Amino acid sequence: MGGEDYYSKLGVRKIINAAGTFTALTASIMPPSVQAAVAEAAKYPVRLVELQKAAGEYLAKRLKCEAAYVTSGAASALTLGTAACMTVSNPAAASRIPFDLNGLRDEVIVQKAHRYEYDRALTNTGVRFVEVETMREYENAFGKKTLLALFFNGAEGGEIGHQDWVRVAHEHGVPCFNDAAADVPPIANLWRYTAMGFDLVTFSGGKGIRGPQNAGLLLGRKDLIDAVAAMSAPISAAFGRGMKVAKEQIVGMVAAVDWLLTQSDEEMEAEFRRRAEMIADHLKDIPSLQSKIVVPNVAANHIPHLLLNYDRGRVKICAADVIAELRDGNPSIELHPATGKTDYPGFRAAPDTIVVGVWMLQRDEDTIVAKRLREVLMRAAGDYV
Ligand SMILES: *Cc1c(COP(=O)(O)O)cnc(C)c1O
Repeated sequence: MGGEDYYSKLGVRKIINAAGTFTALTASIMPPSVQAAVAEAAKYPVRLVELQKAAGEYLAKRLKCEAAYVTSGAASALTLGTAACMTVSNPAAASRIPFDLNGLRDEVIVQKAHRYEYDRALTNTGVRFVEVETMREYENAFGKKTLLALFFNGAEGGEIGHQDWVRVAHEHGVPCFNDAAADVPPIANLWRYTAMGFDLVTFSGGKGIRGPQNAGLLLGRKDLIDAVAAMSAPISAAFGRGMKVAKEQIVGMVAAVDWLLTQSDEEMEAEFRRRAEMIADHLKDIPSLQSKIVVPNVAANHIPHLLLNYDRGRVKICAADVIAELRDGNPSIELHPATGKTDYPGFRAAPDTIVVGVWMLQRDEDTIVAKRLREVLMRAAGDYV
């Protein structure tokens, strides 16, 4: 039974997502089995704490870790996980975060190349970053105020690898947190980093896992996960009360993990390549056009993307105008934000490269994207088709 179409009612345009799991584009679409599980869960009240606990235990078993918690996204997992490290041995201090950190550890060690926008999720708790570049600096960075060692799994740089990062932190009795939010597939990443010894690992629920956009996974040590539960909804005065996770998101997150574990990396990759090749094939007689299929050279969004290049003397349109034409067309298509950029992490493409993210395309949308690109590029080549 379909519900009322509120996008139409509100006058909000539906788009074709030829970009990827970007938050601004509402990330991913839940597979039908996940949508159905969410709709079923929405019908019945339950006890929130009982649901969170059961979901966590189920996820921990399926994802081969000690404990798990469904958060309202990876960003809140970063905030809550950091706060858990601060309060695990002093639960009463949770009421003072972030305005009074007296007596609490508040330094987070991070590689300079791992600094990123999501730092903000950690500094919400009042912590400060201590940057290191070399192994020597890392070993010397630990002190009485050291709270945790943060690793950004999708970083492009950084001298120190996963194993060394964990080993040195543990030599100092300091927990390690890996932000792998956008780093599924491969599916096995879901247990790879906890198995390496990271005390906390987070994944976004609404990206490659294809759960609800405002869900996330926090995986790791049971004492830390328990500390997160102790500062979360339904407790009204809790630090994490504003990061409440609804029953629909909790169930959707679990159902999405169940769905993902029925998939295979090889089949997903083959399907994405098929789409990219189909679009490339449809464009192959555009003058000077060259296509290639590229998997970004970072851990994030590690799936095939289609890159298109052409001679601007032959096809007289810049990448920014291709973006605008597809966005303003009907249906409205959103291309990958690396389009036209030479410094986009993971791509570093030539100027005016068109980047098509094929993995979030739904049934038959690859054909629509191919036709629209052909129209726009052929027109710019002087051939009206
Ligand atoms: C997307 C992302 C996040 C935030 O994830 P949400 O689930 O949207 O909160 C955090 N860290 C990294 C590296 C990300 O890519």
